[in-house]
Amino acid sequence: MKLHVLNTGYFKLDGGAMFGVVPKSLWSRTNPPDQNNMCSWALRSLLIEDGKRLILIDTGMGEKQSDKFFSYYHPHGEDALDKNLKKLGYSRNDITDVFLTHLHFDHCGGAVEWNKQRNGYRPAFKNARYWSTKNHWEWAVNPNEREKASFLKENILPIQESGQLHFIQQSEDYAKNVFPNFDVLFVNGHTESMMIPHIRYKGKTLVFMADLLPSAGHIPVPYVMGYDVRPLITMKEKGRFLEKAQREDYILFFEHDSINECCTLKETEKGIRLDNAFDFNSLFS
Ligand SMILES: [Zn+2]
Repeated sequence: MKLHVLNTGYFKLDGGAMFGVVPKSLWSRTNPPDQNNMCSWALRSLLIEDGKRLILIDTGMGEKQSDKFFSYYHPHGEDALDKNLKKLGYSRNDITDVFLTHLHFDHCGGAVEWNKQRNGYRPAFKNARYWSTKNHWEWAVNPNEREKASFLKENILPIQESGQLHFIQQSEDYAKNVFPNFDVLFVNGHTESMMIPHIRYKGKTLVFMADLLPSAGHIPVPYVMGYDVRPLITMKEKGRFLEKAQREDYILFFEHDSINECCTLKETEKGIRLDNAFDFNSLFS
């Protein structure tokens, strides 16, 4: 098995929205905002080569939305999914499995593209099985008022219509060996039934943090995003996860941290905090 970081680009979100009730004087130390209070965030996917399988975890926000839409989110930087896939010697058609942690646009927008005539949509990975959970899927196709702007039907419905949608069997906390050496933790604070991949790799457990811990700046338990639908549940889930991750020496992989790709954790008198931050390649090459 071999893992590759696949950066699909950067975008901006309001710093205050990303840190909920935490004051700017605190969050701006780790995430300095621009003049409009926006911070830059990565859209970092992970690619897993394993025998005949090529698994992509999350897809970034894609390219099909309107200029108006993108003007709210300021995509920037030179990274793009196709370009970085190509650098690894692959194209979209080589992907066998697209694993979607959840269906917010910044995680699944790249999973669907315009059709040739640009009058409808089709899966961007035509040979792949797409993975979600039944609970999350139903939650996303009937969105609540709070998450409506994040669940865009053009990112979601074409996956089902294509027949490429599959559900991972959800269990109380972990689903084991969903793929070889790949377990999934289910959490419900950020949104209903988000999936957090735990991958055993070169003697370590690498955890794809998605929106449970979008960046290293979110490690302190009360640093919860304003977007979360159940913030008190997020705090419980984060607390439980951080203790286990510190005890078992997990490597945290950040999807959204624009600076830190990975980190380890340590126990301090204030609680669990970042120990070392590093690039994925410096750790595993
Ligand atoms: Zn999200």
